[in-house]
Amino acid sequence: MSKPVLEVSDLRVSFAHPLGVVRAVDGVSFSLASGERLGLAGESGCGKSTMALAILRMIRPPGRIDGGSVRLDGEELSGLDEEAMRRLRLAGIALVPQGSMNSLNPVMRIGQQIEDALADHDLSLSRAALDARIADLLSTVGLRPTVARMYPHELSGGMKQRACIAIAICLRPRVIIADEPTSALDVVVQRQVMETLARVQKDLGAAVILVGHDMGLMAQFVDRLGIMYAGRLVEVAPVGEMVTAPRHPYTRALISSLPSLEHRGGLQGIPGLAPLLRDLPPGCAFHPRCPLAFERCRREPPTLQAVGENAVVACHLAEAGA
Ligand code: SF4
Repeated sequence: MSKPVLEVSDLRVSFAHPLGVVRAVDGVSFSLASGERLGLAGESGCGKSTMALAILRMIRPPGRIDGGSVRLDGEELSGLDEEAMRRLRLAGIALVPQGSMNSLNPVMRIGQQIEDALADHDLSLSRAALDARIADLLSTVGLRPTVARMYPHELSGGMKQRACIAIAICLRPRVIIADEPTSALDVVVQRQVMETLARVQKDLGAAVILVGHDMGLMAQFVDRLGIMYAGRLVEVAPVGEMVTAPRHPYTRALISSLPSLEHRGGLQGIPGLAPLLRDLPPGCAFHPRCPLAFERCRREPPTLQAVGENAVVACHLAEAGA
C-alpha cells in the first residue's frame, strides 16, 4: 500500500445526555492511502457520520472529541487552532455532508456559491480567471457552464449533488469525505453521481472516504470497506474479500441481508436492535444479536486483530482462527 495520506488513531467522540454519556465513536483507528477509496458502513447510529465530522473537528456541543489523533500527510491536526483548521477544510480535506444538496443556499446562484468557497480561502483571481475556474469545476462534475447562473431550485437532485461535489473539490483537496452522497436520489441518478465522484477523485488523485449504509453501492465503488458497530470498527478488509468471505458475524449478517438475484425469496434481516450507545452491553457489543456468541463474548470486548494480509477483525472467533 502507498504512503498513508490520512491516519486516524484511537479517535473518541462522546455526547453529554441527561441519562448518561453517549460514546458515539469509541477508539476508531484506520489509515487511508493516497488515491484509495475506503467505505465506512453500518446501521444508522453506529457512529460513522460522527466520525467523519470528528476528522474535520466539526463536532458541536453537546458533543466533544475526547481524544485520539488525526494526521494528514503526517501533520497532526488535533493541535491546530480553529483558523488553521478552517483553512484546511476544503483545501486539505473536503466534506460532502449528508443531505448536502439541501444545504445549498436557495437564494444564491451556484457560481456565486463556488466563488464564496474560493474567496473564503483567500483565493483572489481576476473575474475572467474566476469564471473560467467555475466553468472548469462545473464541467469536471458533468455540468454545463450555464449552471453557474442558475439557482438550486432550477436543478434536479442529481445536478444539485454534483454542484456540491464541485464546491467540495474547488481547492483540490487530498481527501474527500462523502457522507451518504446519494441518499434521496433514485438508483439511476445514484450511479451517475457515484461515477462523477469516482472520475473527480481519479483526476485529483484524492483519497475518498465514502460513508453510507448501502453495501451494494459501496461494493461497486470502494477498494476497502470498514464496518462500524456501536461506535467501533469491527472489520476492515479489501472489498472483494469482505463481500465473498466476511469474517465478523455482523458483517456476515449485513451481507446476507442484501437482496440477491441468485437466491430469490424472503430477505434475511439482522435479529434484534442496535444497542443504545449510552447503555452498551458488557463484552462484545454485538453479543445479544450474535448467533455465535459464547461465554467470553459476554464479558470481554474483542479488539481489532490482523487476520490475513490486509484485514483486521474484532471478534473472539476470528482471533481463535475459527
Ligand atoms: Fe459474536 Fe463473540 Fe465475535 Fe462478538 S466476539 S461477534 S459476540 S462471536
